Amino acid sequence: MSDAALAIHTEGLTKTYGATKAVEGVDLRVPVGSVYALLGTNGAGKTTTVRMLATLARPDAGTAEVFGLDVVRNAGSVRSLIGVTGQYASVDEDLTAQENLMVFARLIGARRLRARQRADELLAEFGLAHVAGRAVRHFSGGMRRRLDLAASMITRPRLLFLDEPTTGLDPRTRVQMWNTVRDMVNGGTTVLLTTQYLEEADQLADHIAVMDRGQVVADGTADELKARVGDNCVRLDLCDPELAPVAAAACRPFTQEDVLIEGPERRVVVPVENLDSLPELLLRLRAHDIDLKAVNVERPTLDEVFFALTGETETDAA
Ligand code: ATP
Repeated sequence: MSDAALAIHTEGLTKTYGATKAVEGVDLRVPVGSVYALLGTNGAGKTTTVRMLATLARPDAGTAEVFGLDVVRNAGSVRSLIGVTGQYASVDEDLTAQENLMVFARLIGARRLRARQRADELLAEFGLAHVAGRAVRHFSGGMRRRLDLAASMITRPRLLFLDEPTTGLDPRTRVQMWNTVRDMVNGGTTVLLTTQYLEEADQLADHIAVMDRGQVVADGTADELKARVGDNCVRLDLCDPELAPVAAAACRPFTQEDVLIEGPERRVVVPVENLDSLPELLLRLRAHDIDLKAVNVERPTLDEVFFALTGETETDAA
């Protein structure tokens, strides 16, 4: 991929704080128009990476470009292309939602009328029009996050950094935030997201880089990462469970691993590397007069991937 098609390109990006290597040799290639997730537990180096890309911290080594512009040498130009939202809202509690957005718009030089128009556009876009006149102090966590996002979209940034956008939100509000992020991406914004939630990366990101102790330990699409951990499992429910041993024997040529017979219902479980052989497997069962009640294919979860790569589970991280 040429650099012109990349919103972010880093090579060997490194930042050290005293004895702590916060970020060590990170290479990222984030295509324009995509959602890219940095996934990792507390202290993995996600925020430090974002801070360097957003020109808020200076790299000790390596290079980082945003839309082809070096984040150190062209910091001013980079800043005009990006928006950043952090883990904590930057809005003023005592002002209304509309006033907050107008303040941000005035700060970047919009005249009063234009500031108000832009504020109202964003309030509508982010589902906050009905609370435009309400002081932010009375907002729920989800409404605050949405307002914070709206504030970062005032300048219509081409690239938005979302640092743990849903930390601390309840599941329903989290889903609303995901929809808001999807809408922004459909509108043409590239998003670099940091998250500790595997499900969030799975739901939103086109590409995931798993960070651990300052380094990217794996990267790929959610499917690619899942494929690295292990096999799909084909689970067969038989109309006649008595035939499970016959079915298991028929399936044996299709796997390198053991075929299992599970539970009182005697379900036959076949680990397979890829699913290309599935039609043939089903035909083989048919040839043995084995009728199936159900066939399920289960993929490993991103949670299992994370555990395999970092030795930590999401629950450990929490
Ligand atoms: P979190 O989810 O907690 O935000 P993170 O993945 O974003 O974690 P960073 O905040 O980038 O991780 O921190 C990476 C490491 O660098 C941690 O060990 C942290 O303590 C250290 N660190 C980050 N910023 C500083 C700083 N300003 N001074 C000293 N150490 C720092």
